[in-house]
Amino acid sequence: MAGCECAGEYRAPKSRRTLNDYWWFCLEHVRAYNSTWDFYKGMSPAEVEAQMRHDTSWQRPTWPLGSLGAAALDEDVVRDPLRILAEARIGQARKRHADRASYQAPPDLRESLETLGLPWPTTLDAVKTRYKELAKRHHPDANGGSRDAEERLKTINLAYATLRTRLVTEPRMA
Ligand SMILES: [Zn+2]
Repeated sequence: MAGCECAGEYRAPKSRRTLNDYWWFCLEHVRAYNSTWDFYKGMSPAEVEAQMRHDTSWQRPTWPLGSLGAAALDEDVVRDPLRILAEARIGQARKRHADRASYQAPPDLRESLETLGLPWPTTLDAVKTRYKELAKRHHPDANGGSRDAEERLKTINLAYATLRTRLVTEPRMA
């Protein structure tokens, strides 16, 4: 500071654009300098807002959570001592397997399974239980004699008959 005889032992950045370039002051003058320091001086409100948002992630780029997908995780790099990610992967694999299994339902049964909302493989008991639920829910008497309900019930009856016949005659296929 002009006119000051004290040793300059305290540094302060020259400006926000050159944060690694310093002035050196004595304690009294660095305090005076810092008290008038305004990082946001001269910025528009939008620029201040953008700077603050940028600061919350240490000026590093960010992405919305999940936008990179699970595939972005490199299993060799991510340490998973509690096996949280591993368990999630096993769960996903099981689900994929289950999806494949229902896809592998005999082609002539797929529509019926879908109508009753049943996975494959299934059992005669499961088919009966599901049928009873749906028949009750879609019975025309429970739907004010609705024509649509009557049609739905016909479809459900047909699906039930198809599945029951196959499961009774070939119980081992399920
Ligand atoms: Zn000074």
